[in-house]
Amino acid sequence: MKYISTRGGIDPVSFNQAIMMGLASDGGLLLPETIPTFSAAEIEDLTELPYNQLALAIFSRFIGDDIPQDDLRRLIENSYATFSTKTVVPLERVGDLYIQELFHGPTYAFKDVALQFLGNLFEYLLAREKRSLNIIGATSGDTGSAAIHGVRGKANINIFILYPHGKVSAVQEKQMTSVLDDNVFNLAIKGNFDDGQRIVKELFADLEFKRNYQLGAVNSINWARIMAQIVYYFSAYNQLPVAARKDFSVVVPTGNFGNIFAGWMAKEMGLPIKRLILATNANDILYRFIKTGTYSLGEVLPTLSPSMDIQLASNFERYLYYLNDRNPQQLKNMVAEFTTSGKLAINSDLFKKMTIDFASTRVEDQAILTTIRDVWQKTGYILDPHTATGVSAAQEYRVKHPTDTAIVCLATAHPAKFPDAVEQAIGTPPPVPPAIAALEKLPCRFDLIEADTAEVKAYVMGKLNT
Ligand SMILES: *Cc1c(COP(=O)(O)O)cnc(C)c1O
Repeated sequence: MKYISTRGGIDPVSFNQAIMMGLASDGGLLLPETIPTFSAAEIEDLTELPYNQLALAIFSRFIGDDIPQDDLRRLIENSYATFSTKTVVPLERVGDLYIQELFHGPTYAFKDVALQFLGNLFEYLLAREKRSLNIIGATSGDTGSAAIHGVRGKANINIFILYPHGKVSAVQEKQMTSVLDDNVFNLAIKGNFDDGQRIVKELFADLEFKRNYQLGAVNSINWARIMAQIVYYFSAYNQLPVAARKDFSVVVPTGNFGNIFAGWMAKEMGLPIKRLILATNANDILYRFIKTGTYSLGEVLPTLSPSMDIQLASNFERYLYYLNDRNPQQLKNMVAEFTTSGKLAINSDLFKKMTIDFASTRVEDQAILTTIRDVWQKTGYILDPHTATGVSAAQEYRVKHPTDTAIVCLATAHPAKFPDAVEQAIGTPPPVPPAIAALEKLPCRFDLIEADTAEVKAYVMGKLNT
């Protein structure tokens, strides 16, 4: 399978090149040249497969001969052996909904599903190409810890994660700083998340530094992350009772449009998903787009679901490319319109096309709290605040579409990761899994550093030159 850029400015590249590139050199995002499809009969055959084999069947379609089957099988097995359940992404019945728990990986959030695999894939490709990679990223919490756990102890990779000192949750900080592997560097910066992002951006703009030190990014635009996330939509189908499999809908708590784009791909591949319901918090740029057809930048507001406090959805361009019938020039015109005016609008034909696939709800903090409380009172199940945005959206959708069949809500984090919001909703903090409780006593390592690009650069050079 070859990969192309949404902006049409590169020659098709191999899967391996697409993964190592991250972002296409013309500024676009990478996509497979064609979307592989499964027939209805093939989808039934997939229902027999345990998770790792399901992943192998799906990944193979996107990778082709670029990675030998045995190697790919081993990469997948190593990636999901770190999950605490054999099912990897179990589906639970909660009231009249299904909740798919994506948080059984090492950092208790769904990003592990993709980043456990990406870490192994990077290590494999780097060894093959005899090169190394130094990942630098800024985090407000979830992505940093999942990335660190994805690459800890891997050969030929170092990771430097900048986080705002004193401004990430205690669990998130410990999940990062308790990783003592030699290739992991935690930098607590004396500033906020925006300072961290600015520093990383400035380091990447220093092209000589970037080249000489083999810098790479961790963010949700790497194709392998989308590919890994497609699998759990198929797994949801497999775990549904047979009668509920026809035309189910999936609710996705959304920030960067990565998770829900994977769901859209699964639908295009032939999985009978009826509707993808996009849940946002008060940061509602995607909700407004789905309601009105206009994508326009707002201000980032802090909410109870901080991993969705995002305005610019970095994966949205992938969907826009398909919406524009894979026409890179039309896509580029839209991107240009957005860059100059902070706004882009689609015409009524495209709008109609989009509403066949997507519905959306915006969920305020108050509704997040009410939903956590209601579900807990009725069923005893405790939602995290991100998952609660999805469940709230599902309840609204159910009222509007009473005859619709099954609704699967993706649970993106374990409630113990966000105990304050849960306690605010139900009056007691959620039960803490032993692995999270144990974090408190673990030794940790981080370096406190000024929020200054030159200092961070000197730090990185100092570590890499020894
Ligand atoms: C990252 C994250 C999201 C948003 O996922 P996107 O792929 O950016 O849409 C939702 N919930 C949690 C807990 C997350 O960590």
